[in-house]
Amino acid sequence: MSSSDVFPPVQEEVTRLAGLPEVRSAFGRFRHEEPQFAQWQMEVSRVAAPPFAETHRAEWLAHRFREIGLAEVEIDGVGNVFGVRPGYGKRFVSLSAHIDTVFPATTPLNIHQQGTRLYGPGVSDNGAGIAAMLAVASVLGGSRIPHALPFVFIGNVGEEGEGDLRGMRRVFETPRWRDSIAYSIIVDGAGSDTVVAEALGSRRFEVIARGPGGHSWSDFGAPNPIIVLSRAIQSFTETPVPASPKTTFNIGIIRGGTSVNSIPESASMRVDLRSTSMHEIDRLERALRIALDHAMDAENRPAATRATRRPHTVQCEVVEIGNRPAGELAHNSHLLKVIRAVDAHLGNTAQVQRASTDANIPLSLGREAIAIGGGGSGGGAHTLQEWFDCAGRDLGLRRILLTMLALSGLGE
Ligand SMILES: [Zn+2]
Repeated sequence: MSSSDVFPPVQEEVTRLAGLPEVRSAFGRFRHEEPQFAQWQMEVSRVAAPPFAETHRAEWLAHRFREIGLAEVEIDGVGNVFGVRPGYGKRFVSLSAHIDTVFPATTPLNIHQQGTRLYGPGVSDNGAGIAAMLAVASVLGGSRIPHALPFVFIGNVGEEGEGDLRGMRRVFETPRWRDSIAYSIIVDGAGSDTVVAEALGSRRFEVIARGPGGHSWSDFGAPNPIIVLSRAIQSFTETPVPASPKTTFNIGIIRGGTSVNSIPESASMRVDLRSTSMHEIDRLERALRIALDHAMDAENRPAATRATRRPHTVQCEVVEIGNRPAGELAHNSHLLKVIRAVDAHLGNTAQVQRASTDANIPLSLGREAIAIGGGGSGGGAHTLQEWFDCAGRDLGLRRILLTMLALSGLGE
């Protein structure tokens, strides 16, 4: 981002906020209290939170929210944790971090520290986001920084994979929050060098083809589900996709059959469609369904002409297993002006990116939302070799705090 993008009144406000004695002392605490932040990060990473089983971690977080003095701490029906720092207005600025991980319950959570580095599954994604949220909430709690709009801190479930953003979806289906959250800041992973302001949409399907099955020799000619899927894959993957808006597809899993000398009774595949444009996702879904229809036709028609004692057709069932809406933050939105002004003030270089995050939900509803990192640096997300380096975390924390304060406005 170049400084020419910065909107002067917002820039002045950010500079003024950053110069307030209370804000400067909060910045100091971000440096001095780093050992506590690293401690929280390791502790939370040791509490398993596989998709759909985030309860223990939600309880851990609710305890921390109460300890650091947040008000109205509660866990909702799907396991999202809320805590409020009151202000004067009715609209909220939210700071959220997903608490789920990609790791199954059986994964050994060997979390350890060496120097400034933390190691272990989930330590960065999203241990770093949770630690940043707690750091900002706790430093605000011990300060007299005034702000107009209240803040809501949310540890939400269901961001990863088949969680399908169900935590954030629930937040924005709940009237209290749907009608009040004006700005959403989502902290996901490490770093200070990105702003996700474009929501990459995706739609995922499991396709199950079922047929009569049979013996490879005596029932030869019976329609074969594996062949139906293969034909469909062949023609679907020839569907042209535009470079812009970037649109992609993948067949990620294919399964089926029982033995080499059996015509299978069933076969299945998983398909992932992605785009920044909902229109392109719809178009790809239609192409997939047409490819399946043609493939069934091609396999069933000749089989129907043969007389055997079994039913003759393969049928396909298409089950939607994921749906993340696309959307993007308007170029002239207030939130984008604020984060740019904050980055200019901090001398931080960040790039606007497109990704699939919790921000998809508010962005698809036309709300202002961004996803950013929790500072420091990290790598190996979604692997057992995941790491996070705490060095320089305070830059990310200052960035989050200044953004929240500038969005909230100063209560004077
Ligand atoms: Zn994440």
